Amino acid sequence: MSAVSFAERWPENQRGKFYVDAQCLDCDLCRETAPKNFARYDDGGYSYISKQPETKEEEELLRESLEGCPCEAIFDDGDEHDWDAVPANAYVSGSPRDPNKKCGHCNVPATKGRRWWEFWK
Ligand code: SF4
Repeated sequence: MSAVSFAERWPENQRGKFYVDAQCLDCDLCRETAPKNFARYDDGGYSYISKQPETKEEEELLRESLEGCPCEAIFDDGDEHDWDAVPANAYVSGSPRDPNKKCGHCNVPATKGRRWWEFWK
């Protein structure tokens, strides 16, 4: 469980215990492994949970994706979180997407609200 990851889940995720957060680098592994449960958000260039698993086979493939994700961007938080209490894609203090987080090297705001791969924009 990670409160930061839960807050930074993509808003396109279908409600449920599985979700993808902002660490996704669009490698396509999860969509190849569990195409019934993952989809690509083309405008953002990332994966999200398009359907929570409904069968044992779907859940097994989804867990295989979770374990194989190179970015550890797929989560299973069970039913611990209230999806309405924590808005999706929210900034959390100290998280990689926190606009106030400073670079440990140069003390410049690390992200300015951008995802890390948008650093040069
Ligand atoms: S496997 Fe992970 S990094 Fe790759 S597309 Fe899926 S969520 Fe993103």
